[in-house]
Amino acid sequence: MPRTVYVNGRYVPADRAAVHVEDRGYQFSDGVYEVILVRRGRMVDGEPHLARLDRSLAELEIEPPIGRAALEAVLAETVRRNRIVEGFLYIQATRGVAPRDHLFPAKPRASLVCSAKRRTWPEQGAAPAGVTAITVPDVRWGRCDIKSVGLLPNVLAKEKARRAGAAEALLIGDDGTVREGGSSNLWIVDADGGLHTHPLDHHILGGVTRGAVKSLAEGAQLRVSESKFDLETLFGAREAFVTSATSFVKPLVKVDGHTIGDGEVGPVTRRLFDLYVTHTLEGP
Ligand code: PMP
Repeated sequence: MPRTVYVNGRYVPADRAAVHVEDRGYQFSDGVYEVILVRRGRMVDGEPHLARLDRSLAELEIEPPIGRAALEAVLAETVRRNRIVEGFLYIQATRGVAPRDHLFPAKPRASLVCSAKRRTWPEQGAAPAGVTAITVPDVRWGRCDIKSVGLLPNVLAKEKARRAGAAEALLIGDDGTVREGGSSNLWIVDADGGLHTHPLDHHILGGVTRGAVKSLAEGAQLRVSESKFDLETLFGAREAFVTSATSFVKPLVKVDGHTIGDGEVGPVTRRLFDLYVTHTLEGP
């Protein structure tokens, strides 16, 4: 079955889905995006994802291309037309098409693309596999809280990780803080079983999965501290993991060749993985 993509008001076959060469997303990365998990045919955490999309657009002064209700209808229709039961939605909104000029166009009309792909996700009882990470300097811009399509530093960091046989690149700030992954938020578990993750500020993306996992951890009476930590603290952590919509709760067992904890997937990570898998299936 050919895939169908929504492009500015029309559903078109994926191989003919295209945007204009003067789309500002293409020329200036002047746009934002979202990736939303689909399970059993419905969006997981749709509301916080769409709220973050609104926020990213507002921070860049891009008028939403369509209203919230219309967008929800487009997303549901994209899932339906592509017969997605398990998979994910991709939304991209840009400042639209205009003759190339850095300045905002006088009468911008935002572009909107929505696509969906099939993918299988872990079921209840699945065991998460431990992965390794490397570290790289964080050379991104100063507004990483905006989910911009300008992902070149993330692309380079993750490619470097892949070439090193690692699954993720952790981004290190000038002050030595371990900020987040190239496409994920980072967490550690301390010797007392407490969780630590970078506070919400301009240096990280406020992950929707981060928010869900924080609530699930607190609901399970685990202590969660949003505080900065350095590489030494990460190397000495009992457990470490990253979170994102498509990687769920992914255990890190080795970073830059240093074994984390005993090198196995730890009990806190395992518990949060189980809670998050249930959350994706059953919702809050
Ligand atoms: N940080 C970065 C830099 C990311 O690209 C992502 C995934 N898009 C995340 C964190 C995790 O965000 P979410 O949980 O909303 O997928």
